[in-house]
Amino acid sequence: MALVYLVQCANCGTDATMRCVACMDAPEYQPGDSVGSVYCNRDCQKAHWSNHKARCRALGQRKKLLRTANILKAALLTYREVMYDVDLTKIQFQDGILYLHQNQRPITTRSKRGLFPIHLTTNIDHKEAALANNQCTTAMALLGRLTRKLLEGETDPLDYHLGKLGFIFYRGSLDYRSTGHPYWKATDSNKARSGSRL
Ligand SMILES: [Zn+2]
Ligand SMILES: [Zn+2]
Repeated sequence: MALVYLVQCANCGTDATMRCVACMDAPEYQPGDSVGSVYCNRDCQKAHWSNHKARCRALGQRKKLLRTANILKAALLTYREVMYDVDLTKIQFQDGILYLHQNQRPITTRSKRGLFPIHLTTNIDHKEAALANNQCTTAMALLGRLTRKLLEGETDPLDYHLGKLGFIFYRGSLDYRSTGHPYWKATDSNKARSGSRL
């Protein structure tokens, strides 16, 4: 079913349905904060451009960041799926906690890499959690160049940080909030100049 947006033209105020494609469907950071502009025709869109430009660019960057994040996530998970190095024996979800049962590897032996044991779970979230567990350093090493490439022109070089993340990986007894994690911070290169917020 095609969605029809009946709203007012950002330029002249009459009923309008033509959404600015550059900023439509941008992800929300706060509820309702990603609404793009709608116009009744191209002339109104052109006339309104100088007003809309900064916001359009900021919303467009949100889309680009989300697209980048999705690509990076897919790249890491794909790599892990064929180069998995944990001897998993069971994946169990109980009382809000995901348990990854595994055979301990003697410290003197090298880890074997191979296909992820997909028969252990049918739950995509559990599989992704097992693939991504403890991979923060690998992700940094593996995805740095790709990240820069995907964000080319949009950001200053990525800053490397080692710090605390403000969210919880698991509920229950495992809580990584106080653990140091490496991460990148991408800064909008135009932010300082224009004052626009991503
Ligand atoms: Zn109009
Ligand atoms: Zn726009």
